[in-house]
Amino acid sequence: MATGLHNITKIRRMLASTAPVLVTGATGFVAAEIVRQLLEAGYSVRGTTRNVARAIQDGHLTDLPGAAERLELVEADLVEPGAFDEAVVGCEYVIHTASPYVLDVEDPQRDLVDPAVQGTLSVLESAAKATAVKRVVLTSSFAAVSGGAKDGIWTEKDWNTTSSLDSGAYAYSKTMAEKVAWQFVDDNDVPFDLVVINPTGVLGPSIVSRVNQTHQIFVSMAHGEYPGIIGIEFPFVDVRDVAMAHIKAMENPDAGGRYITSAGSRSFRRLVELARDQGWGEKYKLPKIGLDNSVGNAVVKFAANFQPKGTRDFLKGSVGKTYELDTSKITGELGIEFRDLDVSIGDAFSDLERWGHLEPETSAPE
Ligand code: NAP
Repeated sequence: MATGLHNITKIRRMLASTAPVLVTGATGFVAAEIVRQLLEAGYSVRGTTRNVARAIQDGHLTDLPGAAERLELVEADLVEPGAFDEAVVGCEYVIHTASPYVLDVEDPQRDLVDPAVQGTLSVLESAAKATAVKRVVLTSSFAAVSGGAKDGIWTEKDWNTTSSLDSGAYAYSKTMAEKVAWQFVDDNDVPFDLVVINPTGVLGPSIVSRVNQTHQIFVSMAHGEYPGIIGIEFPFVDVRDVAMAHIKAMENPDAGGRYITSAGSRSFRRLVELARDQGWGEKYKLPKIGLDNSVGNAVVKFAANFQPKGTRDFLKGSVGKTYELDTSKITGELGIEFRDLDVSIGDAFSDLERWGHLEPETSAPE
């Protein structure tokens, strides 16, 4: 019975799938999984990248099942005016994920805010001109909800009011981009509606070889770059659930507003424990000294002053803080059941090894 229903859903999707779904930044960690799931569900996909030749050479997207028949790749740059005009033609759905996700940049305005904000406006303007678009799903971030800890629970009503160009520029870029998106649909008589996904740190199996920013935490942890077990907690979510959230947000006619997308939080100490369970203690230089106490927090905050700006802001804003998030909207309205984070974290660890991103520390004493 369940299989029958699944097949009917698949057939329904296939019938509805003649118009391609536009996925911007298709070569990205999150977007590639969205593309994979869309193809699996029978959709046709038009993916944008700044460099089609490179994407074809990488082969991660073009090798996906269904890609030969139903994936096309086109070039578009977020900061080039009108770049998405052609890409969006004939699409009913647009999933806009492209945005630079880096913490340490030379010029935060040029490298983060301009592509995030101008790119979002550019995609929305193109979608407004191409009258076939019914819905735009925007990949925002939990960073647009929260600029740090607070007493209480984060909900979709919250906005990041603390990040700025000078402090937390990535979070600021995501906040500004989401704000201009809501402003754009408020100010203009557009033929589509907007739904926003606000994921916390995304992890899990990656289709693309590049290390994503969240996984970089685990790479640094394995390479001995942390002085000890620091008093930080991270809210996370599995990339497979994030992709599914985008697709459900696209398909469900009743979807609307923002959706905090998170499976919960894990402390840095728990990450180290999970890494040891995975046998990383023997292979890599995992941190050992416990700095997750009041003295340790003070030491880490002081030491953060000597880190690059992005890392410094991140550490200062996160040490000693915990997160409570309300995810009842996404579970209730979109029916997302999040994977167990411990399993997702283990999958992320395995994936980093599969892609060869970790240097074994032969001298690591355990
Ligand atoms: P990613 O792997 O770096 O992918 C981002 C993609 O954006 C890149 O593949 C790139 O495609 C495209 N891009 C970057 N700058 C561009 C520009 N100037 N013009 C056109 N395309 C550009 O990042 P990700 O981790 O998948 O993140 C995807 C989205 O999810 C972003 O909006 C990010 O803010 C959001 N998000 C990520 C996380 C996370 O933990 N990963 C958490 C919350 C939200 P090309 O190089 O092929 O052009």
